[in-house]
Amino acid sequence: MRTSIATVCLSGTLEEKLRAAARAGFDGVEIFEQDLVVSPDSPEAIAELARELGINLDLYQPFRDLEGVDEAQFKKNLARAEAKFRLMARLGIDTMLLCSNVSTATIADDGVVVQQLRRLGDLADGYGVDIAYEALAWGRFVSEYDHAWDLVKGADHPRIGTCLDSFHILSRNTDLSRIAEISGDKIFFLQLADAPALTMDVLSWSRHHRVFPGEGAWDLSDFLTRVAATGYSGPVSLEVFNDSFRQGDTNRTAVDGLRSLRWLEASIADQDASPADGSDSSSSVDPAPGLDLRPLPEVDEPHGINYVELSTDDLGALTRQIHQLGFQFIGFHRSKPHVQLWLRGRARIIVSEVTDEVGTGATGADEAGTTSAPVNGTFLRGIGFDVADSRAAMERAALLHAVEVPREQAHNDEVLRGVFAPDGSEVFFHQSSPTTPAWIQEFGHDHDEQVSHIDHVNLAQPSNHYDEAVLFYTSLLALHAEPSQDVPSPSGLVRSQVMSSTDGSVRMPLNVSPQPHVEAVAGRGIGSVVEAYPEHVAVTCEDIFHTAATALSRGLDFLPVPQNYYEDLDSRFDLDPDFLHRLQENHILYDRDERGEFLHFYTATIGSVFFEMIERRGDYLGFGAPDAPVRLAAQHRKNGQLSE
Ligand code: MG
Ligand code: MG
Repeated sequence: MRTSIATVCLSGTLEEKLRAAARAGFDGVEIFEQDLVVSPDSPEAIAELARELGINLDLYQPFRDLEGVDEAQFKKNLARAEAKFRLMARLGIDTMLLCSNVSTATIADDGVVVQQLRRLGDLADGYGVDIAYEALAWGRFVSEYDHAWDLVKGADHPRIGTCLDSFHILSRNTDLSRIAEISGDKIFFLQLADAPALTMDVLSWSRHHRVFPGEGAWDLSDFLTRVAATGYSGPVSLEVFNDSFRQGDTNRTAVDGLRSLRWLEASIADQDASPADGSDSSSSVDPAPGLDLRPLPEVDEPHGINYVELSTDDLGALTRQIHQLGFQFIGFHRSKPHVQLWLRGRARIIVSEVTDEVGTGATGADEAGTTSAPVNGTFLRGIGFDVADSRAAMERAALLHAVEVPREQAHNDEVLRGVFAPDGSEVFFHQSSPTTPAWIQEFGHDHDEQVSHIDHVNLAQPSNHYDEAVLFYTSLLALHAEPSQDVPSPSGLVRSQVMSSTDGSVRMPLNVSPQPHVEAVAGRGIGSVVEAYPEHVAVTCEDIFHTAATALSRGLDFLPVPQNYYEDLDSRFDLDPDFLHRLQENHILYDRDERGEFLHFYTATIGSVFFEMIERRGDYLGFGAPDAPVRLAAQHRKNGQLSE
């Protein structure tokens, strides 16, 4: 599949955009007119640069407000178009995007538009230019893709075809069945964008909130499948207007974009390999006759969180807290003495100490996805996921342009490979097995007793990498994004979205802090974010009261819960007074729904990490959402005390 990206998706100068697109691996770009207008480089120089970079200039865009006008105006419009054709010749671009008229159209007559398209086609023919006519969702008279197609068909000109743009089509909820009527060779261009489900005017939605496929709410796989079935064989291009992409790092956004296309391509290639109706694949129709689809190694959802790794420069405080929660110290890594293992049943925490001599070896992934200097503090460094095929997972990650974590390994250590997530944390693919993982023997331990496991890991995300993170966990780990929620905190709303596996064995709430501007140094090079919104590891236990009592006797610094909370709890759930008293005595929070009950308590924060102990009763699947604001307010108060 030939990939392309509109230069408007990226930040920087036109030259930087071209270099970033080429470096990420795109086959081509759409030149956005404004990017050329503001560039100091001549069209010839741009064409030359593209040649050097080995990237094709696929499309010149946009040309606006041509059709549906009176004859005098139309002649002026043709002159304007001709100037662009000459410019395109200098750039070496042979396809121009024509948007349906938004502002100057006065004639709502398809016959007139058909005639005018045909005359534009005749003019374009002299310059060897193809016109891709696109219905803008807010076009004056033409706003639907099937209307644009009817006009193109009516014009019946070899130089006039249509451009399908998923945003304009899906934002209007148009019936997609007529895509099948379009012949693939009359689709001159294809643009893809995803978007979050928002209720707002479609123009603002389009200009500010488009995201790459897989980062929004739409089924782009279905959309591309429909277009591919027409026989379309041109570039599949990203046209995404997004405020944070335009402010973000150019190379990083380009990689994010290409990842979205590779993932989408593979999702269709997989359908190709296994027909959904179970019929013999040799007799099935090629779903994408014109697109050369490349599959990716398939991965299943992870089976669980094998371990969490924390880095700390305050080993005493961190290990004391872990011990207070009932974790048992198992040993030091046999070849890395600054690394320890702590267990509570199947909940495994690796603690690596940062000292001035040792460093952690931990490196935040920087803007370009490469690595930067070691960081100090106490922070969540990485997560090991149980996957069915760790080699396939790593291979897939590499093809999706994830950056591998450099890792020292003794010759007899289990081979563990992983990649950096967009927030700089490390994601390791652990070959899952029903028995205790082999790496545990590297700490001199080979058996588990308790029933605890890691219930979820709550990660803070920088707001400008948030969409990228959703795509990362979807495309690399086959996790699903649950609908996002806003949680009130004393410093603003925290946007929270859970990435999970279908059976819930892996759950990771991602949170966008309202205070990305706070400067701090702790953790993974995204310190400012985790400082404002610390991350936590939630661990299950069989008996929360027993766990809390043990923790209390060992001197745990609980996160305090206000009296008002318990009074409110009583009014909401009408709890037994003894039970309520026991909850309060043990700093335990409580939630309940039709399926079951949820009892949990939080520890104080060390660096940018705290813990949550959980007892789930019945089939309660949530995270105690009503309790999150209580926690955030308590943490806010504690922070205030610390800084006084
Ligand atoms: Mg478009
Ligand atoms: Mg939690």
